[in-house]
Amino acid sequence: MLGVHYQIRIAGEGDNWLRLELVDVPLSMGNAIRRFIINEVPTMAVEEVLVIENTSHLTNEVLTHRISLIPFTTDLDNYVLPEKCDCGSKLGCERCSVRFSLRASATKEVLTVYSADLVRESGSERVAPMSGDFQIVKLAPGQSVELELYVRLGKGKKHAKWQSGIATLYEEDGKRILYVESFGHLPPRRMLLEAVKLFEESVTELGGSLEKVVKDERGAG
Ligand SMILES: [Zn+2]
Repeated sequence: MLGVHYQIRIAGEGDNWLRLELVDVPLSMGNAIRRFIINEVPTMAVEEVLVIENTSHLTNEVLTHRISLIPFTTDLDNYVLPEKCDCGSKLGCERCSVRFSLRASATKEVLTVYSADLVRESGSERVAPMSGDFQIVKLAPGQSVELELYVRLGKGKKHAKWQSGIATLYEEDGKRILYVESFGHLPPRRMLLEAVKLFEESVTELGGSLEKVVKDERGAG
């Protein structure tokens, strides 16, 4: 294609954020990338929990909800979205799911269970709770929990627990800036590249569908 010269430069960068200056990039395109970062870039979170034992003061529902909100570092290179995996299994397979377990019991003293107590049973070492400090439950003496957790890829448009970060578009000194901040699942550069790749795929798919329908219409006429 001729005559398209988008200029993009990195105007600032930190561990979990990136500021890009967009020169001659149409607002609509910058906005599309922004929305893809928020809604479409997949990250990993707990999707299924099997409660084997729970004698804590929390109900199974509250306990599993707490666990589902723990953010996980994400491995996009070795896993696929459940809907793109052909296993069709509710708990997934080695291509679409990472299995963790949690076993804890309090004997004589109150025991606080943290995300650091989750044990990876299978899958990529790149997938782990982002911090070991998330408090899950406090167990009184005699109480215990035993759970199996299945961590899978998902998108922010389905549930906020999978949102990769925030992205905003604004004008500064007449310059157009795209600011990207990661929640920690993925580095900001990877979020951006992934968003652009998914945007490109969706435009190609749209183009194919449009071409087909236009040709069909012409054939019918
Ligand atoms: Zn699978």
